[in-house]
Parts: sequence; structure tokens; C-alpha cells
Amino acid sequence: MDYNHDVASELTKQNVAKLLAELPDGVEVVAAAKTRTPEEVLKAVQAGIKIIGENYVKEAKEAYGQVGRRAKWHFIGTFQKHNVRKKVLEMFDMIEGVNSLEIAREIDKKCVQIGKIMPILIEVNSGREPQKSGVFPEDVEQLIREISRLRNIKIMGLMTMGPRFGNPEDSRPYFVETRRIFEKIKGLELANVEMKYLSMGMTNSYKVAMEEGANIIRIGTKIFGERVRSL
Ligand SMILES: *Cc1c(COP(=O)(O)O)cnc(C)c1O
Repeated sequence: MDYNHDVASELTKQNVAKLLAELPDGVEVVAAAKTRTPEEVLKAVQAGIKIIGENYVKEAKEAYGQVGRRAKWHFIGTFQKHNVRKKVLEMFDMIEGVNSLEIAREIDKKCVQIGKIMPILIEVNSGREPQKSGVFPEDVEQLIREISRLRNIKIMGLMTMGPRFGNPEDSRPYFVETRRIFEKIKGLELANVEMKYLSMGMTNSYKVAMEEGANIIRIGTKIFGERVRSL
């Protein structure tokens, strides 16, 4: 065992313990695993992480090879057409990041074939940033009404990234806006829609996000340390 590796995994263990101790009941942590090795991901699970968040299918498969069903697997970020494959859909327990009827239809079609009902969150572009993906706030309800007709997809809430800020307070209005949409749609009690999860907040903003109603937070840096590789 090399020394640096041991130090890193000891840190991950401490980071996870500290984070879990901070969280109120009812908030779930997704460990955002991009750029991390399968061994690092496994360490996080051994330290108490129950859900792994993956942005890239190739990395996800590698980590899944090590961790398997010891954790749940969420796709985080925008789910794209080339990811709609049976193996991929079989692996993920939730897709956090559906932003069009087209992609939802593709997922639905494949899920019919594999006999699965896929839980998804709709990705909201809460900052209305043209370069970012996600549905603009004013379009979320219409999209949800359309996707809710697909039988092998279950809409379970919303996720948002929000614009990136140095000061997490600046994120608050975007979390408030996403929460407002969440509550509004929940109140509609649409068939085949269960507004249960609000996924907002990352390492620098999760406290503000929880104050504004997030019950899933997606944390990378605070669990694994700074990312040294970029993807
Ligand atoms: C990387 C990532 C995160 C976590 O980022 P950190 O700042 O490292 O906590 C959360 N959500 C998504 C979609 C990500 O890609």
C-alpha cells in the first residue's frame, strides 16, 4: 500500500463522517465521483456514502465494477442521447438530468425493452444561462406534463446546478426559484409524477441549498478533495 493512497483514503473517511454528521434527517448525499478512481469511490462507500453520482458513463462502469450494488447509482448532469443504452439504464437507479421530451422518449423506449421504470429528475436551468443545459423555469411544467405520459419513466423531482459563484449566498435566489417550481408542480398532483426530490447544492453551496429545501445534495470536492484531473 502506498503512503499517499492511504492518506487520501483516510481523509475521505474523515470528510464523509464530518459531512454526514452535519446533515439533517431527510437529506441524502450523492458523492459526485467525476475524475475519481474506482478505489476512491469504493473508499467513500466504505466510509458511509450510499449514493454515487456519475457524469460519465465510462467512469461509472469502471467504478461500478468495484462497488457494484453496495451503493445506489445516480447519473448527474445532462443525460444525452448516446447514453441511452440498455446496460447504462440497467445500472442507474436514477437519472438526475433529463431536459427534453426527446431524450425522455428514448429512455422510455429502452426501459420498456428492459422492463424497468426509471426514476428521473428534470434539470432546471434556474439561471436561464444560454450556454447551460436544462429547462428554463417557465417551461418546466409543460415538459413534466408531457413526460408524465410515458409509462416507463417516473418523474420524482427537480435538479438544478445554478450559476457558479464564489459566494454561495449568490446562489440562493436560484435555489429559491427552483423550490418554487417544485412546490407548484407538487401541488398539481399530476398522475405518474411524484415530486419527492429536490437536488440542489454542491460543495460550496450545499448549506444554502439545504436552507432552501434541497433534500439531495451532490458533493464532490468536500468528500474526495480538490480535483486534480479535469475532464
Ligand atoms: C461535479 C459535480 C458536482 C459536485 O461538485 P463539487 O463542487 O466538487 O462538490 C455536483 N453536481 C454535478 C452535476 C457535478 O458535475
